[in-house]
Amino acid sequence: MVPEQTPELVAHVSHAEIIGVSDHFEHFADKAYDEYVERIRALKMLVATEIDGAASVEYAASLHFDYYVYHCRDTAADYRGVERLLATGRPVIIAHPHVLETDLSRIPETCLVEINNRYVWQGDWSAYYGPHRDRFRFVINSDAHQPNWLTQSVARKVAADLGVQEQSITELLFGA
Ligand SMILES: [Zn+2]
Repeated sequence: MVPEQTPELVAHVSHAEIIGVSDHFEHFADKAYDEYVERIRALKMLVATEIDGAASVEYAASLHFDYYVYHCRDTAADYRGVERLLATGRPVIIAHPHVLETDLSRIPETCLVEINNRYVWQGDWSAYYGPHRDRFRFVINSDAHQPNWLTQSVARKVAADLGVQEQSITELLFGA
C-alpha cells in the first residue's frame, strides 16, 4: 500500500456508495486496533479487516469488526476458519477466491463472494464464478491499495455479465 492511500483520502474520493476500509489484519491488529477503528469511524466509514488465512482467524474473531474479508486457500484449516468467522454473526466476504484457488463448492452460501476490481480480470472469471452465480450473493470491491485503484468499473462489468446478485453490506448490517 502506498503511504498516500490514507483513510482520509478514501473518504474524500468517495468512489462507491458504501465505503468500508478493510486493512490487512496482520499489519495492524497487535498494535493499532483502537486507533484504526477510531480513525475510520470518525470518517463515517465501515470498519472491516482482511484476514490472511486460518492462522489469524481466532484473534480477528475476538475483536469487533463490521464485517470480515477472508483469504481462504484450498485447505481444510482455511475452510474451518470460514465457519469460525461466520460464528461471529458478522458478514464474511470470501476475498478474490479465483486468485487464492478457493473451492467455492466448499464455502457455505451464507458467505458473500467478492468480485474484486483489482484481480477479477486475471483469469477466466466466467468459468470460475459462473457455476456459483445462483448460490451466493456477491459484493463488488475495489481492493484499492493505491488511490487510483479506487474504482469498481471492471468488477461491475463482470458482475453484470455474470448476472449475479449484488448484496449491500449496509443493508445486511442495518436493514434496507
Ligand atoms: Zn487480498
